[in-house]
Amino acid sequence: MKDLIERIIYYKGEFLKESELRLSPYNRGLQFGDGVFETMRVYSGRVFRLESHINRLLKGLDVLQIENKLDAPVIKNAVKTLIDENDLTDASLKITAFREECPGIDPVPGSKACFLMTLSPFDHERKKYCEKGISTGIVTIRRNLSSPHVFIKSLNYLENMLGRRQAHDRGFDEAVFLNDLETVAEGSISNIFIFKDSELFTPPINAGILNGITRDVVFEIAEEKGMKCCEKSMKADDIFTADEAFMTNSLMEIMPLREIDGHRIGDKCPGAVTADLMKRFSGKVDKEVSVGS
Ligand code: PLP
Repeated sequence: MKDLIERIIYYKGEFLKESELRLSPYNRGLQFGDGVFETMRVYSGRVFRLESHINRLLKGLDVLQIENKLDAPVIKNAVKTLIDENDLTDASLKITAFREECPGIDPVPGSKACFLMTLSPFDHERKKYCEKGISTGIVTIRRNLSSPHVFIKSLNYLENMLGRRQAHDRGFDEAVFLNDLETVAEGSISNIFIFKDSELFTPPINAGILNGITRDVVFEIAEEKGMKCCEKSMKADDIFTADEAFMTNSLMEIMPLREIDGHRIGDKCPGAVTADLMKRFSGKVDKEVSVGS
C-alpha cells in the first residue's frame, strides 16, 4: 500500500514538508544533471557508514568543480535532525547536491552547492523477494572509460536506467555493464563480485565503476574472515563459470546472484561463501549502529 504520510525533507538549510518544496525552474540538477547524490541505509535510527557517503559526495562535488559551503559535521547534523523529525529508524536516506540554480547554460562564477535530503521507510518486501538471489543480464550499453561521471554518483543516471530497463525487459532483476574494453564493470546500481577457484574478486575502479561503500565493507569482512578479495579485471565468461557471485549496494547489501543471461551460477544460491559474507555484513552493521556514527 502506498505510504500516505507526508515526510519532512531538508532543503537549503530548512526542514520542510514535502509539499512545501519549491524547486527553481532553473535547477541545474534538473536541467543538466549538474550534481551528485548518495543513497544510504538507516538502521535503528543511524546511517551505516555516513562518513564514507559524505566523503564520496564531497569528492563528487570536487570533480564537478561545484563549490561547497557545508562541511561534513553540518551535513551530519542535518541528517540526524531529518531522521528525528521523521521519526523513521529503518529507512533509506537520499542526499542530492546540485549547483545553485541560474538561467542559461553557464553557471554563475562562485555558485555554490545546494543540498536536498529525503528519507523514506525501507522496503523490506523488496529485499525479502531478492533473498533467493537475483538474476542479471549483460546489457548492450558499455561503460565509457573516458567519461568522468562513471566514477562518481552524478545526477546523470540515464545510461544506468536504460541498461536496467533493458535487463528488466528481458526478465532480469539487474543489469551487468561491460566497459568499452569488453571487461566487466558493474551493475546499474551495484558492484559485482565473483568467487571462483577459492578466490574472491571484483573489477578494479579503472574498469569504469563507482567505488561502492558496500564494496569496501566486503573487502573488510573478507579480510576478517581470512580471505583476500582481489581487484582483478574480468571477462563476462568469468561470471558464467563462477562458483558463486553477488552484487552489492547500500540498500541491497550483499545480494546473491542466481543467474546471468539465463545461465545458473554455481550449485546453490546463496553459496556458502556468499552466505557467510552476508552474515558477517549484518554483524558489522549491528556492531557499528549500536556504537553510533
Ligand atoms: N555502482 C553503481 C552504478 C551504483 O549506483 C551503486 C549504488 O547505488 C553502487 C555501485 C554501489 O554503491 P554503494 O555500495 O556505495 O551503495
